[in-house]
Amino acid sequence: MSVQNQHVDVLVIGAGPTGSTAALHAADAGFDTLLIDAATFPRDKTCGDGLTPRAIHQLTRLGLAERVTGNYHNNGLKLHGYGGSVTAPWPDGYYGTVGSAMPRTRFDALLVDAAVERGVSLWQGATAADVEFDGARLAGVVVKHAGVEVTVRAKYVLVADGVRSTFGKLLGRQWHRGEVYGIAARSYCSSPRHDDPWMHSHVELRDVDGGIQPGYGWIFPLGDGDVNLGCGALSTDARPAKINTKKLLQFYAEQQREDWSLGKPREITSALLPMGGAVSNVAGRNWMLLGDAAACVNALNGEGIDYGMETAELAVQLLHEGKDFTLLWPDVLRANYGEAFLLARTAARLLTYPNFLPLVGPLGLRGPVGATLMPAAARLMGNLITDEDRDLLARLWRLAGRGMSAVRRDTPLWSAG
Ligand SMILES: Cc1cc2nc3c(=O)[nH]c(=O)nc-3n(C[C@H](O)[C@H](O)[C@H](O)COP(=O)(O)OP(=O)(O)OC[C@H]3O[C@@H](n4cnc5c(N)ncnc54)[C@H](O)[C@@H]3O)c2cc1C
Repeated sequence: MSVQNQHVDVLVIGAGPTGSTAALHAADAGFDTLLIDAATFPRDKTCGDGLTPRAIHQLTRLGLAERVTGNYHNNGLKLHGYGGSVTAPWPDGYYGTVGSAMPRTRFDALLVDAAVERGVSLWQGATAADVEFDGARLAGVVVKHAGVEVTVRAKYVLVADGVRSTFGKLLGRQWHRGEVYGIAARSYCSSPRHDDPWMHSHVELRDVDGGIQPGYGWIFPLGDGDVNLGCGALSTDARPAKINTKKLLQFYAEQQREDWSLGKPREITSALLPMGGAVSNVAGRNWMLLGDAAACVNALNGEGIDYGMETAELAVQLLHEGKDFTLLWPDVLRANYGEAFLLARTAARLLTYPNFLPLVGPLGLRGPVGATLMPAAARLMGNLITDEDRDLLARLWRLAGRGMSAVRRDTPLWSAG
């Protein structure tokens, strides 16, 4: 194995939606950018494949929305359970009213291709394996690529290596498992309703013994003959979800088979989901962790593509000679997401108490209360409230977030150490 050196302005590790977006913005800003991934594209990633308007908004900023929504788009969420059903169209707010869904094999490859089109250099089958420091500066990243070991020397390193963040761990990233996290499984099923223009969530998720699980099942039509069918539950170390998600998925698919004329679930995979910023050590002098690596996932719905793409754009905006990201990056993350993430994490923790859902579920989904509450809940579940929104729900959400931040000052939220 020979050793070589390579110099670039920006090295991006991981070419999922977060890394590709970072590379696209970096190239657009004029940086000489290298994007590497251990896998070769197209590659699969365990996901529900759902894209809310917030993710589509990010694609629009990159000039890529049409490539996704041109295949299939959806109008909002339908929530089912506890004897009720509520339809909540995407609200006509800051992010627009168009959502979508696309298998990650296609979506991620589309973004990687776009990055290459804009001048990003791409190394596939290239694993970031080791680090070299010069004082506090990350001076080199050792990359194993095509039987060769290359030390990449970059001014800035953006780490988007996903939920396990094996490279992030080399830099000291720590996940706090005492906070709420998700466990989820997904599959693909054929269905004549593959082009149904709604994302469906079943919030009354029962296991084979009839017990209610703190989570939800989903069916996200993909417009290509298939739906993405999956289920996820919330867990904490204190109240671990005692379920086998793949078995639960089979059971859920069985319950939905008739309504959707489903084919047999294929390609069943499962994964863990650290959420809501429950990680520490997310930045150093010249490096930052982005997207899933920084646990930027909504604790209420498990959605992270939009946050990954947003954190990518935010990080690239900070790339200036002489800036130290060690404290700056966690501050930026907290300023943008701290209150909302803390609130979502606290609400998600409530759901892990066994008696909570059976109590509030029927109230939320039936009758006049449901009709009033659920569109608001759908807006929260879709990450669709912004600082620009001035309506009552948005104000209440922000107020609650501020209150929660004051009460839970000691909770890990991209803290240092
Ligand atoms: C079951 C499930 C359902 C979900 N459903 C949704 C949904 O419907 N909508 C939504 O928005 N989000 C959903 N999410 C979350 C979403 O999948 C993630 O938030 C999203 O993939 C984050 O993207 P990323 O680019 O940060 O990481 P990833 O997509 O995981 O990409 C990380 C990349 O880094 C590469 N890599 C890792 N280590 C190295 C290394 N050392 N060197 C080089 N490359 C490396 C990997 O090969 C990978 O390609 C779901 C998650 C799960 C588990």
